Formats: sequence, C-alpha cells, structure tokens
Amino acid sequence: MSWSKINASPATLSRNRVSAAPISGICVTCLDGCPGPCEVGRSALRGREMIYPQPFGKITAGSEKDYPVDFSHFNIQGSCVGALGVEADPDQAIFPAVDLSTEVGAKEKIRLNVPFFTGALGSTDIARIHWEGMAIAAALCGTLVVVGENVCGMDPQAEFRNGKVIRSPELERRVKVFQRWSNGKGAVLVQFNVEDGRLGVPEYAIEKLGVEAVEAKWGQGAKNIGGEVKLNRLERALELKARGYVVLPDPEDPAVQRAFKAGAFKEFERHSRLGMVEEEGFYRLVQHLREVGAKYVTLKTGSYRPADLARAVKYASNAKIDLLTVDGSGGGTGMSPWRMMNEWGVPTVYLESLLYEYLSGLERQGAFIPSCAIAGGITLEDQIFKALALGAPYIKAVCMGRATMTAAMVGNTVGDMVKKGKVPAELKAYGETIEQIFIGYSKLKEIYGKDADQIPPSAIGMYTFYDRLSAGLQQLMAGARKFALRYISRDDLCALTREASRVSGIPHVMDADREEAAKILGISMRPRPWEKGEEGRSLMASRSGGENYWQIGRQVPSSPFGKVH
Ligand code: SF4
Repeated sequence: MSWSKINASPATLSRNRVSAAPISGICVTCLDGCPGPCEVGRSALRGREMIYPQPFGKITAGSEKDYPVDFSHFNIQGSCVGALGVEADPDQAIFPAVDLSTEVGAKEKIRLNVPFFTGALGSTDIARIHWEGMAIAAALCGTLVVVGENVCGMDPQAEFRNGKVIRSPELERRVKVFQRWSNGKGAVLVQFNVEDGRLGVPEYAIEKLGVEAVEAKWGQGAKNIGGEVKLNRLERALELKARGYVVLPDPEDPAVQRAFKAGAFKEFERHSRLGMVEEEGFYRLVQHLREVGAKYVTLKTGSYRPADLARAVKYASNAKIDLLTVDGSGGGTGMSPWRMMNEWGVPTVYLESLLYEYLSGLERQGAFIPSCAIAGGITLEDQIFKALALGAPYIKAVCMGRATMTAAMVGNTVGDMVKKGKVPAELKAYGETIEQIFIGYSKLKEIYGKDADQIPPSAIGMYTFYDRLSAGLQQLMAGARKFALRYISRDDLCALTREASRVSGIPHVMDADREEAAKILGISMRPRPWEKGEEGRSLMASRSGGENYWQIGRQVPSSPFGKVH
C-alpha cells in the first residue's frame, strides 16, 4: 500500500483520466491523445507553475500523505477514580473547572489563557488579508500570534536606509492591531529569516514598534526551503530583487521581461534563502537580540532530520531561549511546493517523540529545559490533548496554523454574506445576523460592550472556534481527571498499534496499567504468549485465532522490527 497519492490532487487542480497505478500515479492506461489533466500532463504545459498548490493567494494547503503513525494511533486514557487539580468531589470536579492557562518563557513568563496559538502569518496575501481578524482574536483569547517572515521586505511602503528597514507600515499595522486589543495575556511575536535579519527587521520591531518577542526561524514542517510567494507584476519583481530577494526568473533579464510582457508566463517567484545554522553564531544572535531589548527570544524549527532537532534542543537549552516551537511534517501552509509538503521531513508524532527523548535526556543532566510548543497538522481538541500528553511535561502549548486560519476565513466569508444579506439556506437555520449565527459573539458583546461592534467577523470566527476547542479540551481533561495542564502526562495516552508504541514509547493499550491491574486483582500476570518466544508461538498456533490482538502475537517471531513490546 502506498502512503502517498501522486500525480493527481485537488491541491494542484489535477486528476487522472482513469484509475491510477498506485506507485506511479499515472493512469493504468495512459492514452496517446489525452490532453493531460494529471500533474505530469499539466506540467508539460505549465512546467514549474505546477509545483505549487493552486490558486495561489486564495488557499492554504496541507499534506495529503497518510503517515504510518499519527495522533489517531493513540487514544486518551480515562479514569473513574479521583481528580488532580481540584477536590475529588463530583460537585467540584466538573469540566468547566478545568484550568487551561499555561505559560512560556525562561526567566520572565508570557501567560496564556489557552494552550494553543496560531502559526506564523507571513507575507502571503492570505496571511496579510486575514491578519487583522486573527491578531484581534489572539488578543481576545489571550494567546500568541506570530508575524511570519518577509513582512517588511514585501511591504511596498517600507523605507530602507543603508539596507536596513527604517519604516514598515505593514509590520506596524500588524503589531498595533494586537497591542490595541491585548488584555495583558499572550504576545505578538515577530519572526525573522535570513532576509529579515539582513534588513534589520528584529531590531526595527524591538526598537521602533515596542515588540517584546522575536523569533528566529530555522524552518517549518511544510517545506525545507525558505518562504516563497508569487508576483504578478514586473515592477514588483524588480523591487523585491533590489531588496535582496532571489526572484525567478530574473526580472532584470531583457529576454525575461519580453516573455513576461508577451504573456508567456504570468508570475515571478520570490524565494527566501536557506539559513545556515551555526552554534556559536546562534548564541551571538540571541545575545545581540537581548542587548537591543528583546524581552523574549524564541526559535521555530522545522521537521529537519533528527540531528538537527537535537541541535535545536541543545542550542535552545544553552541559550536559555523562551520558547522552542517544533513543526512536524503533515501540516500545511499558505505556499509550499506540493510534493515537498508531502514527502519531506519527520512527521509530527515521530518528531515529538524524538523531542521528548532529547529533552528528557538533557533534563537528566540538569540542563535548562526551554518551554516547547509542537505544530504540524493539529486541528481539534483531541489532537491538542494528545500533543500535550505525548511531549509532557515539556510541551506548554500547541501551534495551529491552518485550523486557525480556516476559522478566520470562514468567519470572514460568512460575515460578508450577512453584510450583503445573502446568508445561504444551510446557515439560515441559525439566523441571519452576526449575533445569531456566531455563537461566540454574545460573549464578546458582554465583555466589550459597544467596542464589540469593531471586532471583524474573521476574529469572531477564530474566537468562537478557540472557545469550542477550550470546551472540548476541558471535557477531555476532566475525563482524564486532570484539572490543570501541568497534570497531563504521557500516562494519559495508550498506543493502539505496536508500531505507534515503538515510535513513541507510549505503552500499547494491552500493556498499559498491567502491574496496577495485577495489584488490584491480587494476581500475578503471566507473560503473554508472544513474550515467551517459541513456547508462545506454539501456544498461539493452537488457538483458533481471529482477533487482531492474537494475530500480532503470532507475527512476532518474524517481525522486521525485532521484539515487539
Ligand atoms: S496524460 Fe491523461 S491518460 Fe495519461 S496519465 Fe495523465 S490523465 Fe492519465
């Protein structure tokens, strides 16, 4: 079975003519005469344009690959005994009593009302357009919001002196929106990549805009090259090349200019450079940012190979940074090469399992352990719980890019429909006004009074979504008898497959609580047949079989993974 689907995807607006050969994705009969709606066929016409999900600027895209282990391979353990963080009394231990607050930071803490926040919103159109709503909602929810890379570099109104930014209305707008609505919880982080660093973006954000938290970006889960956007004007392509970006094809080349004007291609690509991580340089950078006034310095790394995760953990520990966000493969983005998004990197569950192993190793040595966040395809409360538990006690929050943006985009779309009096029939069941359709709005009205009228529908959408996540997470935590985040542990999970157990170190569901169960029963548990080698195998052979559980036992002696535990 192939875990990938290749050569046809809604992401690239491509499809097969007839059913596809699973390995190649090419139609089982590729017909001479077909106009080629598949990805190979379209690439014969549009070439490199087909590398990216489409339509650019109007979508977010997420990996389609079905990884061998993901969060669905774990279940959350529940209990009917006791309660942690609240009195073990049915009248006290109700789910709204669950405390979802968390904090990140080394010396000084950033307090958050909820343990989830948005991924970085950078220079893509979709991030720019929806920034206001998402920043307002993040402020209202008391959480983090991250300004992504290249915002100053892409700002048409930005002014530069000696290669450094001295004014960027777009970055200013982004920061001010959050500051205007902030309730003292959460923070706005400004991320920077190679180009941002060269343009002096972190210094500008700290010194001129009063930003307290800046984030060095090593990478993300959706791609292992720098950020990209498309440019549909020659003047814009020339401007960004002049600002130091890699722009393809070269807009200064007269032949390229002629081809663009003749309509041979319609978009230039603006690429960011690859960063070159170097240990001493990283420490110097963190020191420099603190010297220019950063109160918090954070690091975001992508789903690079395990040795690079080890570097991120070690350097973050040595530099005592305030938050390390680790982004696994399987998530999405506004703009990444489609095949890269599917096929590169360490998927989230694997990456988080490694992260736990590395952090616990450093902790045993007495090293400083930074606050950590995990990202990569996390959408709803069950995944949030599992992500917090799998990396407990180190994971303080979960970073969710695409899910948050989906809520904001839907809020915006439905807000427009209400404004134009064009509410579709399926939503009319809720009503026809903002107050009737968005269930979270009345709460905002109660808190902010008349000011609530200034909250855009995209912010109401995200706020309402986060409110649902909060209630859902509180329910799951109450069911696990954990009434504050600090009580969530790896023990709250069981693995449903041997492979998930082997990857994560979380006990298989049939091994969980075995000793405690024996103690309760006053019996000694016999080793299971497959734990006894040959004897077990012969015992297995005598069974009638049928249950997966026993079948797993029968497969043990020839398991390519060695001993199954
Ligand atoms: S060219 Fe047509 S027939 Fe051939 S693989 Fe593509 S869609 Fe299928």
